[in-house]
Amino acid sequence: MSAPTADIRARAPEAKKVHIADTAINRHNWYKHVNWLNVFLIIGIPLYGCIQAFWVPLQLKTAIWAVIYYFFTGLGITAGYHRLWAHCSYSATLPLRIWLAAVGGGAVEGSIRWWARDHRAHHRYTDTDKDPYSVRKGLLYSHLGWMVMKQNPKRIGRTDISDLNEDPVVVWQHRNYLKVVFTMGLAVPMLVAGLGWGDWLGGFVYAGILRIFFVQQATFCVNSLALWLGDQPFDDRNSPRDHVITALVTLGEGYHNFHHEFPSDYRNAIEWHQYDPTKWSIWAWKQLGLAYDLKKFRANEIEKGRVQQLQKKLDRKRATLDWGTPLDQLPVMEWDDYVEQAKNGRGLVAIAGVVHDVTDFIKDHPGGKAMISSGIGKDATAMFNGGVYYHSNAAHNLLSTMRVGVIRGGCEVEIWKRAQKENVEYVRDGSGQRVIRAGEQPTKIPEPIPTADAA
Ligand SMILES: [Zn+2]
Ligand SMILES: [Zn+2]
Repeated sequence: MSAPTADIRARAPEAKKVHIADTAINRHNWYKHVNWLNVFLIIGIPLYGCIQAFWVPLQLKTAIWAVIYYFFTGLGITAGYHRLWAHCSYSATLPLRIWLAAVGGGAVEGSIRWWARDHRAHHRYTDTDKDPYSVRKGLLYSHLGWMVMKQNPKRIGRTDISDLNEDPVVVWQHRNYLKVVFTMGLAVPMLVAGLGWGDWLGGFVYAGILRIFFVQQATFCVNSLALWLGDQPFDDRNSPRDHVITALVTLGEGYHNFHHEFPSDYRNAIEWHQYDPTKWSIWAWKQLGLAYDLKKFRANEIEKGRVQQLQKKLDRKRATLDWGTPLDQLPVMEWDDYVEQAKNGRGLVAIAGVVHDVTDFIKDHPGGKAMISSGIGKDATAMFNGGVYYHSNAAHNLLSTMRVGVIRGGCEVEIWKRAQKENVEYVRDGSGQRVIRAGEQPTKIPEPIPTADAA
């Protein structure tokens, strides 16, 4: 047992050193909490670009090129970093992988290896302390605070990235990351505009710097906006949501509730009319022979998730309504005691073995006072279930809110008693409450057929 001791001793000096992220921020140490390289990359450079934009005129060709390059680099992140490398939702041939690693690098959001590692931790530990961009720490934090402020890497949840370490494109991009950033982020957009139509400075400022700024902010929205704005049609245990606005900003990554439920699906939007250009691109690459093995969850599985979530919402809604005291919680009355109480002026009506106090309802009874009064102190099962009037589903529901007791032995009349036993069994919802479906109230009894008895 010497190995574990040696291990602890070897780690001891390191364990004593507290990571800056684990100390409280104050006015003496705040600058140590800041990741200055990231501040330069995601705040400094964009700021410089905004200032430059004041005196660098924007040419139409450069503007069009900047938008095209925005889509190229944005897709490098969404189709490459995210759906290909972080989730393996499809396979790509070498030329496509090189292209995605290059344009993805041009978005200046870190190397594939670093990005995908954090993203896998985000999926595995969503909304917890181990989630590198937990939205629980605030919208601003999940948007860019997590990059601007230092994080203790040991606190981020562990994930397996052995597959990424085996991809030579990923490894090469990680080792040469800064070269990739300067070439693809700034040099290429400037060269195209400069060699193409002589707008070197415009290419640098608009297609380079400001385009980086927009791509960064757009993709950061997946971590902030997508967790705040929209619906949760598949699961509401965690924060991810679906919203068309987020999808518009993030090249289709806005159907985030779906994505967290089915992360290895190459789609984020499953309906044809939903905006998901990342999905369309992957599909187009497949037609060109560049992508293959596109992964999809069966529609049956997706619908199951949707139905279960709907059920959950229904259960919650149901729990807020008054369904009457459950039968097993009502006091048991003797038949004679029931008749006695009714004679003494209490407006009690027994239907299907359940006693209801209708005293306050007599004057409101839609069928008139006389009708309801004739049932007081009697077994009104038959009267209520068609003998006198075939009451509506709503009437059975209303009646259940007036329950005050159950009669020992159930109905007085033997034939109705038997029919009652054959009545439907109850289903319980997620919170253990009985589900009372329309027409399945305990007071609703199918009319017994006397001839069936004889046979
Ligand atoms: Zn997410
Ligand atoms: Zn993801």
